Amino acid sequence: FLPHQIASLEQVDQTYIMVKPDSVQRGLVGEIISRFEKKGFKLTGLKLFQCSKELAEEHYKDLKGKSFFPKLIDYITSGPVVCMAWEGVGIVASARKLIGATDPLQAEPGTIRGDLAVQTGRNIVHGSDSPENGKREIALWFNEAELCQWNPAQAPWLRE
Ligand code: GDP
Ligand code: MG
Repeated sequence: FLPHQIASLEQVDQTYIMVKPDSVQRGLVGEIISRFEKKGFKLTGLKLFQCSKELAEEHYKDLKGKSFFPKLIDYITSGPVVCMAWEGVGIVASARKLIGATDPLQAEPGTIRGDLAVQTGRNIVHGSDSPENGKREIALWFNEAELCQWNPAQAPWLRE
């Protein structure tokens, strides 16, 4: 244990970030991982993965019934995705800010979607919308053995 870890009483949350098939095809994997890595969050899981229709439908189950749902499932299953688990204090809301608005044309410059995408149906990255969904989605996309608990050497230089 390091002193800063004992001192921190703040809640550490997890979020599921997914590089969607369009960004894999466009060669944006490194760029997207880099945004979260440079911010100072901790990566706990990472894999390239071709998902089934069933898994995509379960992940987006809240959107079942929307007119775009079939297109969304086709999109997410159209090629490999990069699945990531990240953790940190305040990570869920912060990651959503880094990602930007659902419609890339409305997303602020400086955000991932604002800088790198032009349409909702090809908005290149997913981020969980609540700590509860972060946990749910990580459990859905990863086995326990694929997740790593580790202590980044830079931790005392990121948080007092
Ligand atoms: P997010 O949390 O910002 O990703 O947005 P939502 O949870 O509302 O929607 C999930 C995903 O469904 C989005 O990221 C888009 O890929 C897709 N989506 C949402 N709305 C639309 C739409 O109107 N048309 C299409 N084609 N896709 C949509
Ligand atoms: Mg969402």
